[in-house]
Amino acid sequence: MRKKIVAGNWKMNLNYEEGVSLFSEIVNMAKDEVVGNQEVIVCTPFIHLSTVAKLSENVKNVNIGSQNIHQAESGAYTGEVSASQVKSVGVEYVILGHSERRAYFGETDALLAEKTNAALKHDLKPIFCIGETKEERESGKFFDIIKTQLVDGVFHLGKEEFAKVVLAYEPVWAIGTGLTASPEQAQEVHAFIRETIANQYDAETAENTTILYGGSCNPSNAPTLFSQKDIDGGLIGGASLKSRDFLEIVKVFN
Ligand code: PGA
Repeated sequence: MRKKIVAGNWKMNLNYEEGVSLFSEIVNMAKDEVVGNQEVIVCTPFIHLSTVAKLSENVKNVNIGSQNIHQAESGAYTGEVSASQVKSVGVEYVILGHSERRAYFGETDALLAEKTNAALKHDLKPIFCIGETKEERESGKFFDIIKTQLVDGVFHLGKEEFAKVVLAYEPVWAIGTGLTASPEQAQEVHAFIRETIANQYDAETAENTTILYGGSCNPSNAPTLFSQKDIDGGLIGGASLKSRDFLEIVKVFN
């Protein structure tokens, strides 16, 4: 059975102390309130990674992710952080292709394919984000857009490598806007993604791929979204900055 995951994306929020304090709250609540088999991933800014990775060491099913990596091994790339550096502080996951990286930092699917390779080479599991803009949804071409993102970003991987990838469907128009895709809209795209994976690899691979929903997910809408057949959890932005809200979303799977 595929893994259920609730991942938080703190984006560029929280100073060091605030981040450590929020993470400690999450860990304590996760222990007290007995998080079941679902996996909790917290994707923090780089400054928090090594400390929160240590704090999560003996906590079952709580893992850490970064929000980006550079595609090169090492070298003269001032201001960048490599996959091996992130891995060396105990990080397990990396968000790749978030729409904010695509829109504000010009990340293309070709670049993201390189970043995916760099991540997997260093045993970091990608949380690979795909999703259409408002215009693309309104034009009705969103299935084509999503398929292209998959083909160009991750379908170059062999089956064994692809099995390490978590996908996140994040309609750009729903991110940080308070607009959520309806459970039916989200399910329709998740089913399409799964079918596309089955066509590229096989039915078993498709069945085993965790596909998260992201975009204004909160404690009120998470239960109906996560009850959809092909939605295996969420990538949570704003609501992951409040420990209580984040844990409520995690507990949808209890
Ligand atoms: P949001 O962000 O939950 O604040 O809409 C989701 C995301 O960008 O991953």
